[in-house]
Amino acid sequence: MTPSSQADPMSEAEDDTLHEECGVFGIWGATDAAALTALGLHALQHRGQEATGIVSYDGQRFHTHRGLGLVGDNFGDAKVIAGLPGPYAVGHNRYATTGDTVLRNVQPLYADFEFGGFAVGHNGNLTNAPSLRRALVRRGCLFQSTTDSEVFIHLIAISLYSTVADRLIDALKQVVGAYSLVALSNEALLGVRDPLGVRPLILGRIAPNAGGNAGAWVLASESCALDIVGADFVRDVEPGEIVIINEKGVHSIRPFGRTAARFCVFEYIYFARPDSIMEGMPVYDARKRIGEELARESHVPADVIVPVPDSGVPAAMGYAAESGIPFDLGIIRNHYVGRTFIEPTDQIRHLGVRLKHSANRAVLEGRRVILVDDSIVRGTTSRKIVEMVRHAGASEVHMRISSPPTTHSCFYGIDTPERGKLLAARHSVAEMAALIGVDSLAFVSIDGLYRALRHGGRDPAAPHYCDACFTGDYPIPLTDVPEREIHLDTAQAGPR
Ligand code: SF4
Repeated sequence: MTPSSQADPMSEAEDDTLHEECGVFGIWGATDAAALTALGLHALQHRGQEATGIVSYDGQRFHTHRGLGLVGDNFGDAKVIAGLPGPYAVGHNRYATTGDTVLRNVQPLYADFEFGGFAVGHNGNLTNAPSLRRALVRRGCLFQSTTDSEVFIHLIAISLYSTVADRLIDALKQVVGAYSLVALSNEALLGVRDPLGVRPLILGRIAPNAGGNAGAWVLASESCALDIVGADFVRDVEPGEIVIINEKGVHSIRPFGRTAARFCVFEYIYFARPDSIMEGMPVYDARKRIGEELARESHVPADVIVPVPDSGVPAAMGYAAESGIPFDLGIIRNHYVGRTFIEPTDQIRHLGVRLKHSANRAVLEGRRVILVDDSIVRGTTSRKIVEMVRHAGASEVHMRISSPPTTHSCFYGIDTPERGKLLAARHSVAEMAALIGVDSLAFVSIDGLYRALRHGGRDPAAPHYCDACFTGDYPIPLTDVPEREIHLDTAQAGPR
C-alpha cells in the first residue's frame, strides 16, 4: 500500500508532541513541607500539567489535596497549604499515560492500612498492570481509580509481610514496568526506582539553618526541583534501589540485586528541563553536544540556524557552534497559550500552530535556513512550521532533528501515539522530507546520540540507555501490551 492510499497523517488535527510522564516530589523533616512540595511540583510542571496533588503527614494524621490543572491553580492559595500541615509530604504532577483525567485518578493515591496511612506517587508505567488488576479484582480488591498505579496499593494491602518496607518489596517483585515512586507512611518517606532505572529519581538535602529548620531530605524527579526549595543534590537513587528516610537518616535496600541500567535517553533530548542534571550529566550540555554531532553528521550550506523553540534551542546552539553558521531566533514562541485555549472552528484549529509559534521575517527573508527541532512525532506541527518559515520568505528550508527517527511507541510512561501514527514508522527519511515540505531532512544517528552522551556509539549487545522508541529494543517485557501495538501490521506499513 502506498502512503497516498492511507489516512493522511498530515491532515490529522491531533496533538503532535510526546508528552512528559509525571513528576514526583517528597520531603521529610521540613517545617513547611507542603509549601516546599508545592514549589517542587511547580518546578516539575513540565512533566505533567493535567492534575496535581499533595499528601502531608503531621505525626498524627494524613491530609490530602488533589485537583485537576496546574500546580499554581491548586496550591497557589495559602489556605490550601495551611490545610496540609506537618513536616512530611509527598506530591505528584500527572500527565495521564493510563487512566482517564478524573479526580479519582489524581495522585498521590492514599489508603489506610492496618499499619497506618500510606500515600504513593508514581512516575512510569506498569506493563503487567492489566493482568495484575484482574487477579486482584478476583481476590476481592475494590479499585477506586483506573490508573495502573493503584495496583501498588492493593499489592501492599494483601501482602502477608509485616513491615511497610517488606510489603513494598513484595509488591515490587510482582510488577513489571518502569517506575519511580515516592511514598509516605507514618514511619518513613520512601523512594524507589525500577531495576533498570528507566525513570529518574534523585535524593537531595536541605541543610539545617539558623531559622530552626533541622534539615530535611528531599526526593524528586529532577534536580531543578531541588534548586527551587534550596536543597543540595546528594545523589541519584540507583536503579533497583529503595531509599527509606526517617529520623535515623537515609537507609538503602537493593532487593533486586544489581543489573545494567537503561535510563530513558529521551530525557536528555526533550523531557527533562534543560537546567536539570540527569545521571550526572547536565541536560543543557547534552543537548548542545547532540546539536554538534548533528552538524558533523549532516551539514548543508545555509545562512542561519533557527531553533524550533523551546526544546530545540540548545541543540541549535550546538549545531551553530560546530558549523560556524550564525544562530538566530527565526521562530518566536508565544508563552501565553495555555492548554485550555479553545480553538472554536476548524479554520482556526488549522491555524493552531500559529498560536504557539510565529515566524520572524527579519531573520528568515531571503535566507537559507536550517531549522533544528528535537523530534518528529506525527509530522503535523513540523509541516506547519515549515510552511510558516517559507511564507516568511526563506529561500531554502532544511530540517535537522536532534533525535533519531521515532519509529516505536513508548510503553514505559511516555504518552506516544500508536505506532502506525508515528511518521517515521511508516515513511523513509526522503518521504518524510517530502511530506513535511523541506529541501532536506536529517536526524542524528543513534551512534551520534550515544557519542554526544559520551558513550562512543551504541553497543547493541549492551546499550547504555533505553532507546526503544528509536530502535524497538524494549528492555522491559511488554507483558500485557497487545502485539498489534508493538508491531506495524502490513496494512499500516508504507515503503521505507
Ligand atoms: S521507549 Fe523512548 S521514551 Fe520510552 S522510556 Fe524508552 S527511550 Fe524513553
